[in-house]
Amino acid sequence: MTITYLKRGKSEAEKSRDDAQTRAIVESTLKDIETRGDAAVRDLSAKFDGYSPARFRLSQAEIDELIAQLSPRELDDIRFAQEQVRKFARAQRDSMLDIEIETLPGVILGHRNIPVQSVGCYVPGGKFPMVASAHMSVATASVAGVPRIVACTPPFKGKPNPAVIAAMHLGGAHEIHVLGGIQAIGAMALGTETIEPVHMLVGPGNAFVAEAKRQLYGRVGIDLFAGPTETMVIADETVDAELCATDLLGQAEHGYDSPAVLVTTSRRLAEDTMAEIERLLTILPTADTAGASWRDHGEVILCDSHEEMLQVADRIASEHVQVMTDRDDWYLQNMTCYGALFLGPRTNVANGDKVIGTNHTLPTRKAGRYTGGLWVGKFLKTHSYQKITTDAAAAEIGAYCSRLCMLEGFVGHAEQANLRVRRHGGVKVAY
Ligand code: NAD
Repeated sequence: MTITYLKRGKSEAEKSRDDAQTRAIVESTLKDIETRGDAAVRDLSAKFDGYSPARFRLSQAEIDELIAQLSPRELDDIRFAQEQVRKFARAQRDSMLDIEIETLPGVILGHRNIPVQSVGCYVPGGKFPMVASAHMSVATASVAGVPRIVACTPPFKGKPNPAVIAAMHLGGAHEIHVLGGIQAIGAMALGTETIEPVHMLVGPGNAFVAEAKRQLYGRVGIDLFAGPTETMVIADETVDAELCATDLLGQAEHGYDSPAVLVTTSRRLAEDTMAEIERLLTILPTADTAGASWRDHGEVILCDSHEEMLQVADRIASEHVQVMTDRDDWYLQNMTCYGALFLGPRTNVANGDKVIGTNHTLPTRKAGRYTGGLWVGKFLKTHSYQKITTDAAAAEIGAYCSRLCMLEGFVGHAEQANLRVRRHGGVKVAY
């Protein structure tokens, strides 16, 4: 490959120093929550969010009061976005069929898709009240048929945010707690005196939230590693610098640690985009975060060909990949590692984040190499079952099973099979 970096972000060594610090903070905080329960949760909420109400769980009256603060237009917009998310999630759920087949005469194998029985949905809200994250986790869990949906979000500027609470409620949350960060994740997974533990945690968040989910995996399920937002634009000469710069900064504004990467075959576009980003940073109201992300994590990579851009993109495995080239569908057919694709200049990552209907909780830190984003299927557990309906099938499978068990030296296993062969096949076999 002949790629050239016109701009580079933090080195791998710097990133792993940051990771080690986050890991240590999360580990000790989770221990504290496990030991002291609600008392620890309250102390942490007071420390990080300046919030210590009588109860973190909202009553129905409090929820109604918050929803009443929204205008009809705002409520309609939330309902519209949730309906798009539900439409796509329902179609995905309907594609997940329960199956039952006869693999040999009298041998029946099948699977059933069963909803996870309780989930904890984290809706981020430190820097921005992320209303849309409630559609993505709560409404999708509801389409999957999860019977207990717990939702947590931090206070925004010291109090519950009405739009986030409305989206959680309209999405179908059964319990809403105004709790953020590690304390929310820890309380939902480990349980406290006032929160029953859940079976699975879902939803995006900052580096602390993503690391807390990672450390709790095993004690509970998690959807995926969905940390600070990443975006990549793949562009050739068919688009202009304004589009590329706007799309890169649009995601860099999430926080101070959101990589935005331009991959292009055009040196002219690369240079114009960098200049346009500097211009936009003088007028964008969120230039504080977007500028820091761009300075520390932004990258511009010049490639010789589409094939090279594809290789670079698959290696980086970015969360969002906006493709604006003369062959967008070629990328759709050939890219293998990413969170979600946004094809062509007419759509963009903000559409996907807020309204279009695909899920915005997506893999970061190269997790796109082994998983896609959150979707209704993550809330469904696929469980197999088997039965044998004839004596002949019981005897035939039993004979194979007995011999295969003895290949491994499993005598007790072999006897399970032999017993069926004796009873259903009338053949005297024994170890
Ligand atoms: P957040 O809700 O994730 O985190 C806020 C909480 O962090 C606070 O409640 C506080 O308790 C805790 N916190 C802050 N500083 C701390 C510290 N020093 N030590 C321990 N805890 C601390 O909100 P946010 O910070 O605005 O981050 C939201 C994140 O979600 C962004 O990074 C965004 O990019 C990401 N995101 C990712 C996806 C995805 O799918 N990958 C989607 C949407 C958003």
